[in-house]
Parts: sequence; structure tokens; C-alpha cells
Amino acid sequence: IQTKLPKVGTTIFTVMSQLALEHKAVNLGQGFPDFDGPQALRDALAAAMNAGRNQYAPMTGVPALREQIARKTERLYGRKVNPDTEVTVTSGATEALFAAIAAVVRAGDEVIVLDPCYDSYEPAIELNGGRAVHVPLDPRDFSPDWQRIKDAITPKTRMILINTPHNPCGSVFSAADLDRLAELVRGSDILVLSDEVYEHIVFDEAPHQSVLRHAELAERSFVVSSFGKTYHTTGWKVGYCVAPRALSAEFRKVHQYLTFCTFTPAQVAFAEILEKDPQHYLDLPAFYQAKRDRFRELLAGTKFRLLPVAGAYFQVVDYSALSDRDDLAFCEWLIKEAGVAAIPISAFYETPPAEQRLIRFCFAKNDATLEQAAERLTAL
Ligand code: PMP
Ligand code: GLN
Repeated sequence: IQTKLPKVGTTIFTVMSQLALEHKAVNLGQGFPDFDGPQALRDALAAAMNAGRNQYAPMTGVPALREQIARKTERLYGRKVNPDTEVTVTSGATEALFAAIAAVVRAGDEVIVLDPCYDSYEPAIELNGGRAVHVPLDPRDFSPDWQRIKDAITPKTRMILINTPHNPCGSVFSAADLDRLAELVRGSDILVLSDEVYEHIVFDEAPHQSVLRHAELAERSFVVSSFGKTYHTTGWKVGYCVAPRALSAEFRKVHQYLTFCTFTPAQVAFAEILEKDPQHYLDLPAFYQAKRDRFRELLAGTKFRLLPVAGAYFQVVDYSALSDRDDLAFCEWLIKEAGVAAIPISAFYETPPAEQRLIRFCFAKNDATLEQAAERLTAL
């Protein structure tokens, strides 16, 4: 058969999780917590099922959940959005990213992505006839290099895709970054797709610089988030997209034929927990910061060099003091020989820097898991 995605294989997350399973390794590769979300959330899910909330939700999402998302957006980012016309609930952020791209990217359009970048972006762009234009983040601190981004803009540029807090690097945008982005797109019809799935995981008291805080950018942006990250429920696959009315209307044209709607009982449960316990997401930075700090302390005695982590739940480390294998080979070796799974950073690049020796560990794990992994890594 003629393949539409000749460069694409099985995702690195699946590959590494399978290898981890085969070798009984501690899995710090694929990003998911090894603990459950709030008991009240799980109770609310069961209650919704038992109360008969088991049929299709409205195409745009359960109204009470859209209402809660709008309230959260206003409370945190000072932006009033209309829950009926500007908020759409999706099957995880993955669907929201795909739907936003499919809604606006036409054959021949270019979408600027910043490498390293999450692996679902480029296939979504290509399947819709677009071309991903890869611009590297500044290798010193993985911040956006605005001059290079500006230089990459052409008359074909349809969209710029950003991700803050950043997977895999843990870097975050500053308010000045949003201003620079606004300057770049001012007067053009370039749209912004902002992947903010880790919006509630920002450390050291820093505010999350959501595009939704920036009135000018918000006017031309799709902002995507995921309850999987916020409520430790990656397997429930509920996310959402906030976008101005006209963009949301286009987004919904795709969403209604991609999935139509997502799992109703989970939407009911998230609406309830957002109303009853908004403290959960307010406490999330401290919760994950303690894990970040614990994991960094545990790795302090190893030969890994730890890169800074300002947000999200990943620790990137340089392993060049341990090996000069490339990062994929090193990750395979690490699973087999040390019993710890990680993700090679080269998987997030079009052209990985040749000399880069970086891998990613997920620290969204119980302390016992982190300690077991660290014990194995310390022995190297
Ligand atoms: N974007 C980024 C940056 C992610 O890390 C993830 C999840 N790993 C997603 C999107 C997808 O989120 P979801 O699981 O809600 O589809
Ligand atoms: N987003 C998760 C990560 O970065 C993986 C999600 C997936 O496996 N598709 O590890």
C-alpha cells in the first residue's frame, strides 16, 4: 500500500513502554502517573454511570463542564470565554490538537513547530496536507528563538504551534515570549495553536503564561489542555479546546466527525470535581514540585547532569559522562542493563543535534518508584 505517513513508525512511548514491560524495568519513560486521581473524582464517575449518564454527550461537551472550564479560564487567566461558543470538550488533548490542525491547515500550508516537539504534531499536519517547518528551540535553555522563528515565516505560514510548559524539556514561556509572538503575527492571518496540557504544573511560584492571558494572541489562538495531566487520569482521555467563536465553529466541524463527543460519565465527573474542589489544580504545582525536588535529590549522586525543570513532569538529563551511545541506543541499554526506562530526546526532533546526549525521565511517580529507579541509576 502507498503509505500516507512514510516516516512514521510506532510512537516512542509505546516502544519504550513495551520494552520496559519485557525487561521488568521501572518505567519512567511514557508520561503517566503511577497513582490515581482524587477518590471523589472516581466516585463521581461511578455515580454518573449509575445515574444513567451513559449516552452521547452533546457534541460540544457536557454544558456543566464547559461552564466550569470557562470559570477556570476567567479565574486563572482573566479571560471571559463563552462556554457555549468558545469551549469544546475533546477526547484528550491529542484529538483537540488534530482537530485544530485539520480545521484550518490546507494543502500546501506551513505550520511552524519548535523542536524538540511532541510527536503527534507533525503527523497531524501532514495528514491534512500541510508541511511542518521545524525551528529549533535555543539549545542552551530550550526557550524560543524568536529571530529564527521570524525568519521561518513565509506567505504559506498558516499556524505557529507552541507548547508551554514544554514536553520534553520542562521549559516555560515568559510573558515577554508571548509579547514577541504577538509582534510576529500582528497584521498577518497566522493562527496560533497553544498546547498547554501542563498548564497547572509550573514551578517556583511562577504563573503559567497562557496565551489566554494575552488578549491580542487569544483572538487568533486555539488553546488546548488535558484533564489527564491535571487529574492523574491519562487513561480517561478528556481534554478541551478554547478558541474564539469563529475558530471554535471550524474546530467543531472537524470534532463532530472525528469523534462527535467524548465519554459522558467522565465529563460529568470532571464538571463536579471542578466545582467542588478547585483547590486540586491550585495545589498541583506544589505537589509536583516536591516530586521534582525529591527526584533531583535522588539523582544528585549519579553521573547524570540534570537540566533545569521549570514546568511539566519530566526531568531531562545529559548522560555523556556515562556513555557516548546515541540516545535511543542508550535508552535500550538502560532498560536492559539498569532496569529503568526513559525516552530519548532525539525522538522529538526532525534533525537531532548530532552531539546531544539527552534522555527524559518522568517523575509523576510515587516516591517508592522514584527511589527504586534512583537506586538502579546510582549503581551505574
Ligand atoms: N501534548 C503534550 C505536550 C503532551 O505531553 C501530551 C500527553 N503526553 C498530549 C499533548 C496529549 O494529551 P492527551 O493524553 O490528553 O491526549
Ligand atoms: N504524552 C505522553 C508522554 O509524553 C505520552 C502519551 C502517549 O503515549 N501517547 O510521555
